[in-house]
Amino acid sequence: MKILLCNDDGILAPGLIALYRVLTRFGQVSVVAPETQQSAAGHSITLHTPLRVSHVRVADLFDGHSVDGRPADCVKLACRALLTELPDLVVSGINAGANVGVNVIYSGTVAAAVEGAFFKLPSIAFSQQMGDAVDFDASADCCGRVLDRLIALEALRPGLLLNVNVPRPTATRPRPLGLRVVGQSTAVMRDSYTTQIGPDGRTYYWISNPEAPDLTGEDSDATALDAGYVTVTPLHFDLTNREALPDVAGWNWGGWGG
Ligand code: MN
Repeated sequence: MKILLCNDDGILAPGLIALYRVLTRFGQVSVVAPETQQSAAGHSITLHTPLRVSHVRVADLFDGHSVDGRPADCVKLACRALLTELPDLVVSGINAGANVGVNVIYSGTVAAAVEGAFFKLPSIAFSQQMGDAVDFDASADCCGRVLDRLIALEALRPGLLLNVNVPRPTATRPRPLGLRVVGQSTAVMRDSYTTQIGPDGRTYYWISNPEAPDLTGEDSDATALDAGYVTVTPLHFDLTNREALPDVAGWNWGGWGG
């Protein structure tokens, strides 16, 4: 199996290195990842400047391509130009930080997997909820265990787009309690901004550690992760609200309606 590995934390990130080690068990891994930290880049791509690619040796473990662009650029460029043939699987991560709820929209890690899905390739995003005792080798083992199951289930097929999160280890729960398949939380972040006056006299704003969203009454990726479970959420990139479609289509569009 040919695997394309990407991330949004940059090609030197410990989560990517740990995941690379585990992925070699499944096949031949090509790494094409951002040169620099690209967290929360979402699905942005580079249009107005060229993309520069460097060959880098990482952790004395692999040779990869670093790209001075976004996560989605990396997967698109790999599939269109860098790789001699399309991979069988696109993997993104392991991100340093959970990607649950609305963070899925901001996430560059998820965007790289979504880009793989644009190519009709099975694609998986892996993220690790951060905490005091995070060990990316342990979380990579969890990711490998998920992949083992997906292979056994013959689930690595076009159209498979999964968002997987690994819970943070705690003193009382060093390992995940299990795995749950859950939907995405819709609770919104309660961000705040720290304000300072810059040396130029202008006010600047820096987003602060967001307060946790209110998850009361939810059964979602966010609550299952907090409860200590590996979460698996199938995604799709069609943003159409199918439920609302007939209603909106029935509105009086003032003579423009079909
Ligand atoms: Mn990140």
